[in-house]
Amino acid sequence: MSARELAIFRAFCEALAPAGGRLPAAEGADGVSVAEPVSEYVACIPPQPRALLRVALRALDLTPFPRRFTALPLERRSAWIERLEQSRLRPFRDLVLGLKTLASLGYTRDPSVQEAVGSVPACRTESGAAPARAVPPLDPVALVPPEDVERCDVVVVGSGAGGASAARVLAERGLSVIVVESGDYHDASTYSRDPLEALPRLYRDGGLTVCEGRPAIPLPVGHCVGGTTVVNSGTCLRPPDDVLARWRSEFGIAWAGELERELEEVERALSVTRLDAASAGRNAELARLGAERLGASNAPLCRNAREVVCCGTCPTGCELDAKQAMHVSELPRAAAAGARIRAGARARRVIVERGAAAGVECRTRWGGRYEVRARAVVLAAGALGTPELLMGQGLCGSSGHLGRHLRIHPACWVGALFDEEVDASDGVMQSWLVDEWAERGVLLEATATPLTFGGHWMRGAGPAFKERLERWGRVAMLGVHISDRSEGRLRLSGGRLRIRYSLSRPDRDALRFGIARAADVHFAAGAREVYPQLGRVAVLLPGEQAALVERGRFAAGDYRVEGFHPLGSARMAADPRAGVVAPTGETHDLPGLYVADASLFPTSTRVNPMVTICAVARRIAGGLADRLG
Ligand SMILES: Cc1cc2nc3c(=O)[nH]c(=O)nc-3n(C[C@H](O)[C@H](O)[C@H](O)COP(=O)(O)OP(=O)(O)OC[C@H]3O[C@@H](n4cnc5c(N)ncnc54)[C@H](O)[C@@H]3O)c2cc1C
Repeated sequence: MSARELAIFRAFCEALAPAGGRLPAAEGADGVSVAEPVSEYVACIPPQPRALLRVALRALDLTPFPRRFTALPLERRSAWIERLEQSRLRPFRDLVLGLKTLASLGYTRDPSVQEAVGSVPACRTESGAAPARAVPPLDPVALVPPEDVERCDVVVVGSGAGGASAARVLAERGLSVIVVESGDYHDASTYSRDPLEALPRLYRDGGLTVCEGRPAIPLPVGHCVGGTTVVNSGTCLRPPDDVLARWRSEFGIAWAGELERELEEVERALSVTRLDAASAGRNAELARLGAERLGASNAPLCRNAREVVCCGTCPTGCELDAKQAMHVSELPRAAAAGARIRAGARARRVIVERGAAAGVECRTRWGGRYEVRARAVVLAAGALGTPELLMGQGLCGSSGHLGRHLRIHPACWVGALFDEEVDASDGVMQSWLVDEWAERGVLLEATATPLTFGGHWMRGAGPAFKERLERWGRVAMLGVHISDRSEGRLRLSGGRLRIRYSLSRPDRDALRFGIARAADVHFAAGAREVYPQLGRVAVLLPGEQAALVERGRFAAGDYRVEGFHPLGSARMAADPRAGVVAPTGETHDLPGLYVADASLFPTSTRVNPMVTICAVARRIAGGLADRLG
């Protein structure tokens, strides 16, 4: 940000949270410094959202025309933000949402704000001690790549759910394995609770990867040893039978119905257990209560974090490393079996020799060149990283399907105000499933989003916004997830990945249906008001209003959604004309080049996909090990 843009942003932050009341002010001598640290964070996000932010700030300052935003007295600035937030013109609403997201992140990250609100993210076990590690930790020193050439049987690109699972199988089958990971190693000893520090460390694009389209949709993915599993919510669901049946019948993946053994092994390796209802927290209890009063099917979720009774730090790394993310589970097991894991090594090119994959060329964090020569290459760089690498080199494009069919499982947050204290942060972050409407592709998951990532959903600016933040402890939260039929597309432009994704009409209908059902669950549990994320509808009251949302007419840009599960961008199909990857995991176009991550899923999984990704990667790695002997 330039000095001028910084001044405009500061004026926005001051007006969002002025002095007065229980919460400190944003900015000012005794206030919380917001604009400066946010502007430092913004320096590490990709050029496109950064440019948009700068335009947004300049545009804001040209309002209310002919006056300038920065020239308005404080109270009028707050009132003006509120007016723009409720404007009939969507660009104004989007402008406020974007700026408020950053300002709220910068403001609520401050411990004094969290303490005053009574919502401090934490992770706790019954005994107070961190659970014993299932496997000895990785040695960070051994993760440094040499600036040289290394040789092995199989090089795996990416260390997330797919890469780590594949690496373990291959190493335990006696093959020499190297995993190259472009992100750095972090664990409980180095995570930061401060999102402005954690986002650039653990996420691609500092957490601001965005799908262009209507609406623009944030699509965060991990960028660290362990991949997105380090920052995910730890929910472990098996793939529904009908999804696997479709993979088999429509895409010729004969083994799709035979994943039982792999699924069992994944669940064992990740210590997957059903949450104990008694220790899931009040947010979970309210989801259960609401669902039961409606007669809707519901259950505690299965998770990969045993013993934890309070867990609110998932998105910035599990403070106790109780969550069995790949860097504390499958990667150490792979390393114990001899795999070498190399952090800060970005694969830039697949080495092709005599018509087959023969290794990868990497760039290290220090700009050095590092090469791995191998008999086979397994790409597991995720649904964005794998097609990005292939498209950058013009590989595997013959079917025309590379980069297409991207699914993201659009999700939105539906909060609700209760008369009682919910204290969602004092419980398990993702805890309860309402699957009554699964047949319609809609799942509700009780998800206690931390204040830092959800504060901007509280309406208004000035004293009204601060009062709503103060009531955060009385807010219960449900996430609405839909199994999308919309398909996005990835392409490279000037060397940068561009993601296009627009919500189709059936998906918008499903989202509205899901938001209305979430509102029903909240009201049935006793909510006094519900906050749907839909256009200018800020609040729903008990009665007919949820039905009005369901029947209402909203433009695509009115939906405020995020995507947490990118899938399908290098899909698997037996017919080389229908997909990029064969059911063996080998690409149709290049012998010796395999894919073992979310990108090869031919359809949406309907449920959170991590366990399926791990199981499929194990299957592919097992077959590869058989072939390599
Ligand atoms: C906030 C959040 C919460 C989630 N919660 C859940 C949940 O509760 N349950 C669930 O099932 N799923 C959840 N997910 C999704 C789940 O974590 C992912 O679907 C899964 O981790 C994807 O696995 P993957 O192997 O395809 O990719 P990833 O796990 O993303 O791993 C890919 C890795 O490849 C690396 N990489 C990329 N390009 C290169 C390159 N060129 N060279 C070297 N390395 C590279 C990346 O840095 C990354 O580490 C969540 C996701 C998010 C963002």
